[in-house]
Amino acid sequence: MVDEQLLARGVRSPAVLAAMRSVPRHHFVPPDEIAWAYADGPLPIGQGQTISQPYIVALMTELLDPQPTDRVLEVGSGSGYQTAVLAQLVHEVHSVELLPDLASQAGERLRSLGFEKVQLHTGDGSLGWPESAPYDGILVTACAPQVPQPLLDQLEESARLVIPVGGRTAQQLEVWTRMGSRYTRTVSIAVAFVPLRGLHGWK
Ligand code: SAH
Repeated sequence: MVDEQLLARGVRSPAVLAAMRSVPRHHFVPPDEIAWAYADGPLPIGQGQTISQPYIVALMTELLDPQPTDRVLEVGSGSGYQTAVLAQLVHEVHSVELLPDLASQAGERLRSLGFEKVQLHTGDGSLGWPESAPYDGILVTACAPQVPQPLLDQLEESARLVIPVGGRTAQQLEVWTRMGSRYTRTVSIAVAFVPLRGLHGWK
């Protein structure tokens, strides 16, 4: 997976590659999908949701540029796979999931695999998670019609927000960086994510 899907496509961060090698992806997919756990695509995880393609997980993580002392927020815990990759790289991960069943399954899975730097929350992550803000980085794994202002507000100075933004079927991966009261935006590749629900997501 790492050689053929990540290195071959230009993922270069040694820390991100090491994190992707270390997290056992087969523990994060449903039993009947295990044969495809390391395949080059997303997989269904129930309730109409998906675990992202390995390359997209690695790319988003690299774009976030996580540092060992960082506290980061993920919106859309899903299976908990991206959460686990982040937990290998930073000091503390908060992750918010809207669907209670997915949140409790991801929580049990991460605990049983020994990921202790993770705090899972159930709720509308389009509002961020103000209780623990500001964050050194925010990563959103569902697509938004536009960037939710609360997520920008919860960024630490110089911190980045990585988020798919666009229409319901096709989006672009955007990186927003806080510079005082202003933000810069850069655009990465075209992507296709499940919709972000909630107040600042799709109705
Ligand atoms: N990062 C996940 C990908 C999950 S797919 C993984 O590695 O498996 C996106 C997830 O976002 C879904 O689980 C969906 O329920 C969740 N989601 C959608 N809208 C949300 C919202 N407003 N707040 C929190 N989670 C949301």
